[in-house]
Amino acid sequence: MAQSAPLFEPEKLRILLIGNGGREHALAWKLAQSPRVDEVFVAPGNGGTVFGAKTISVNIAVDDFNGLVDFAKQGNVNLVIVGPEQPLVNGVEGIFRKVGIPVFGPDVRAAAMEGSKAFSKDFMARHAIPTAEYRNFTDHAAAVEYVKAVEHDVVLKASGLAAGKGVIIPSTKDEALAGLNDIMVSREFGAAGDEVVVEEFLTGQELSILTFSDGYTTLSLPPAQDHKRIGEGDTGPNTGGMGTYSPAPAATRAVVDEIQRTIVQPTIDGMRKDGIPFIGMLFTGIMLTPKGPKVLEYNVRFGDPETQSLVALLSADTDLAELMLACVERRLDCVKFEMKKEAAVTVVLAAKGYPGSYPKGDEITFDPLPENVHVFHAGTKATPEGKILTNGGRVLAVTATAPTLKEAQALAYKGVDCVHFKGKTFRRDIAYKAFLEEEAQQPEGMTY
Ligand code: AMP
Repeated sequence: MAQSAPLFEPEKLRILLIGNGGREHALAWKLAQSPRVDEVFVAPGNGGTVFGAKTISVNIAVDDFNGLVDFAKQGNVNLVIVGPEQPLVNGVEGIFRKVGIPVFGPDVRAAAMEGSKAFSKDFMARHAIPTAEYRNFTDHAAAVEYVKAVEHDVVLKASGLAAGKGVIIPSTKDEALAGLNDIMVSREFGAAGDEVVVEEFLTGQELSILTFSDGYTTLSLPPAQDHKRIGEGDTGPNTGGMGTYSPAPAATRAVVDEIQRTIVQPTIDGMRKDGIPFIGMLFTGIMLTPKGPKVLEYNVRFGDPETQSLVALLSADTDLAELMLACVERRLDCVKFEMKKEAAVTVVLAAKGYPGSYPKGDEITFDPLPENVHVFHAGTKATPEGKILTNGGRVLAVTATAPTLKEAQALAYKGVDCVHFKGKTFRRDIAYKAFLEEEAQQPEGMTY
């Protein structure tokens, strides 16, 4: 019998993806593979999103909300995806909602889970979600008194957005008091330090858990680990992230289940019960402490560079655009989702001097890449002649997937050798912690 044609075809997606990092290039790359996607406009994008299949950069800044809305209306955009936190915390979702264009990302009130650490700590206390002991302060004298009195070591956090900075980990009481002074009196982080969270210092391995949410159903990706410091062996200053790997053997199946049961689902349920349902990508930073997993922070968007590793691990049949649309349309429980039974390693290539000052405008050249290796651009730009130049501190990321972490690591570094620019700076030890775990013979090891 001849097959009858489908009665109708779902609307094609014209996506506006806001951002210009490696995270956005990785998302654009996977979105463009969706049969349902017509076009992905990346605002402002980078050198990697200029030339992609179905992908085009549009020169609109992430904070130019009027420009973004005008473009979306003129370009018949029917789904907006927001990469960075600042537009979400500033209410970009509501601006698009007013003109009837759905956004994958939380509204301004739910975005406060990242925009205000004091708010997120009170949320966790209210819903009994495991996290470090804490107190919030707007008064410097009261904070000083508390820091002098507590017996445990403390961490100081400017409550507001501080571009990935704003967290001070003092080694002594005197350093803690100096830190309070820096945030609350010298106002080193500006208005982000109007309120300060003084938190108990926790020890353990850190994990990043990225979870799709439609406000009810949650779908978490395999646990990833980030490498924040510029130097090998986790030394030197903090950066936006120098590399990631997933899955992280530190998170056994039992640990992942515990995180889902005690942290992720209660967070999404708690937000709905509080009247601020979360739609989008919830990133939970977790410390695996001797007393179990505890939340370090929430982010309300994809992590960078975790996204590069995780997107590469989505199976070929898993449609990222459908997943995101399902979150917006509250039908995440019905969507097809599968991860490759593999591991991914992402190595960030930075400009010399990063995270301090660094040059821009050096040409980047590429040798042919091995199979299963991807280059995701971050701080790059394309010239009209088609050259790619460095244009930021974290220049690009090389992501490899393979059946085991060891193989993925070796392949990622083969990929690194295929990318050339003056002053190319990277860590040679991405994923090293996974192998310490293996040496400790974690019985369950990698479970994804
Ligand atoms: P946050 O932005 O809150 O995730 O903090 C940035 C980094 O500071 C985390 O990735 C941790 O490495 C560290 N950190 C934050 N809170 C704590 C804590 N309570 N104990 C130990 N380290 C912490």
